[in-house]
Amino acid sequence: MIDFNVPPYVGTEIRYVEEAVVKHHKLCGDGPFTHRCSEWLEQRLHTPKALLTTSCTHATEMAALLSEIKEGDEVIMPSYTFVSTADAFVLRGGVPVFVDIRPDTMNMDETKIEAAITERTRAIVPVHYAGVSCEMDTIMALAKKYHLLVIEDAAQGILSTYKGKFLGTIGDYGCLSFHETKNYSMGEGGALLIQDERNVERAEIIREKGTNRAKFFRGQIDKYTWVDAGSSYLPGDINAAYLMAQFDDADRIFEDRMRSWNLYYELLKPLEEQGKLILPCIPDGCEHNAHMFYIKAKDLEERTALIRYLKEQDIQSVFHYIPLHSAPAGERFGRFHGEDVYTTKESERLARLPMFYGLLEDQVRYIADKVTEFYR
Ligand SMILES: *Cc1c(COP(=O)(O)O)cnc(C)c1O
Repeated sequence: MIDFNVPPYVGTEIRYVEEAVVKHHKLCGDGPFTHRCSEWLEQRLHTPKALLTTSCTHATEMAALLSEIKEGDEVIMPSYTFVSTADAFVLRGGVPVFVDIRPDTMNMDETKIEAAITERTRAIVPVHYAGVSCEMDTIMALAKKYHLLVIEDAAQGILSTYKGKFLGTIGDYGCLSFHETKNYSMGEGGALLIQDERNVERAEIIREKGTNRAKFFRGQIDKYTWVDAGSSYLPGDINAAYLMAQFDDADRIFEDRMRSWNLYYELLKPLEEQGKLILPCIPDGCEHNAHMFYIKAKDLEERTALIRYLKEQDIQSVFHYIPLHSAPAGERFGRFHGEDVYTTKESERLARLPMFYGLLEDQVRYIADKVTEFYR
């Protein structure tokens, strides 16, 4: 069976973890590896502050806390996304207002946002699906016009860019994921990227149970205390060690995934030209990170048959995201603004092909052959 995902493992992770345990004797949060990971992110993504977190979900919760989302505040987002995008705001009493997606990128349709804005709207949450950027110039201009915050769900978007800027560094806050299904992993983990340095101190306090411990460790104060409401959003240093090994090999992972992505694209292009299926679209100005390779079948029925056929050929292909507005919690906590022209229809057509670091060229060729055979 060719698995849909294999967690990235470059080989040096064990050594890094051993160093955390045996050399540093530091297992809890904010140890040497956590600092190295944060610095790596800050330098590589040109962002003033990156805080490692226990997940992207938690990074988004931090962003919701920092944005002071309160009961009844509205947050505009796509319905075609992972539950965390909405959950983080719902926990604070926020109301997700879902808008339709664009069929080409599966990202929120930037032309549908303005009509969804009310006097209760506080933030826009673009989700960069498959590591391909949303139309950020339009979104940032709207945010400016209506004084809204922008919190990017860049869980899938690490190292992708929009007009030269890294995803997660364009809005006020950016949320990354290092879950085992993402390009770089620590099992469970994430990061919060902060654009305005004035928000950093409060973020550090929220992340450390409402204490000013980070300041204490930097020697800026001589004792630390409880100064605000907070939680525990910092991962252990063992997990950070695992991630750091992958950051040190980031280009190899990136290029390996890109080779698979480009080969899929080249081999399946003829099917798209024959009008049989649709391949991912990368708009001008966007550079992606080969997070995902998906194809879109004609409809739900054809997709179901395709996934079944691939399974018979020992290929695990998956679909995802029951649109949030049609899920029980989505109906309860949120609402859809405007018409669902594409969200449900396009989500039912999409199938993801195996994509992970270490996927072999022969495997990509085999999978593309079987997809081609299905359409014959
Ligand atoms: C993976 C993912 C998340 C959640 O990431 P965790 O680190 O598992 O919390 C959120 N949003 C999107 C779009 C994702 O793909």
